[in-house]
Amino acid sequence: MPEGHTVHRLANAFNAQFIGKRVQASSPQGRFAEGAARLDGRVLLAAEAHGKQMFLAFSGDVWLRVHLGLYGMWRFGGAGLRGIGRRTRKAETDAAFPPAPAGAVRLRLLTKAHVADLSGPTACEVISTEEKLAAMARLGEDPLRADADPARAYAKLHASRTSLALLLMRQDIIAGIGNIYRAELLFRARLEPHRPGRSLSEEVWAALWGDLAVLLQDGVKTGRIVTTEPQHRARKTGAPRRGDAVYVAHRGGKPCHVCRTAVSSEKLGGRTLYWCQTCQTG
Ligand SMILES: [Zn+2]
Repeated sequence: MPEGHTVHRLANAFNAQFIGKRVQASSPQGRFAEGAARLDGRVLLAAEAHGKQMFLAFSGDVWLRVHLGLYGMWRFGGAGLRGIGRRTRKAETDAAFPPAPAGAVRLRLLTKAHVADLSGPTACEVISTEEKLAAMARLGEDPLRADADPARAYAKLHASRTSLALLLMRQDIIAGIGNIYRAELLFRARLEPHRPGRSLSEEVWAALWGDLAVLLQDGVKTGRIVTTEPQHRARKTGAPRRGDAVYVAHRGGKPCHVCRTAVSSEKLGGRTLYWCQTCQTG
């Protein structure tokens, strides 16, 4: 599932190429024909990400809310849009523009020079400004947003007996963390994932929040989740290789990069939690 950094990168892509442009909206697959008709001919005014959700503002007080979920993706085409993650179409310098929709495209947004194709989202709806504000109010703090308030997230964490591992995945507390950032954040802080939220001190929380902000900002910059320090990688210099990029996420049974203990994994709340029993005792 795309985590928060990916959604912010997608919003950046829209802000770079689509803002101020009138769009032709269509639903090549047909499932969003009515919604597309409501967007068609409007000017795209702004794109903003909040956690894993993206909100596109259109002229006439209309918003598009998109949650990619597990399988959703945006594909971009047109000049100057290379390199926005793996979901970007290859440069189409010689190909006809616009390209034919690939697969089941729920929504196509087309300008004179660029195209964005959305497929497989969990949520895709046209909403009013009021509904947009209500949707955002249900979301927790996103460290990538200027309006984030870590104290509000802390109040919720600290009021709960639930494990930190479960609380960190709750989008109404912190918006944008997925399974990988959850596991890596707890590892980097050497925190035992099952300890209850209420056991978290303000000092530890401040450090966690700061670390998360740095990790997410790096993710937005590079499009990759890299959480390991160079000294913990098999290759100490250069870009980390695949097996070296993270400490514990999706590494169940493999040796911990720090202590060589086999990384633990268990099902928790429908997702797999990864952690090192030797390193994470805090
Ligand atoms: Zn370890």
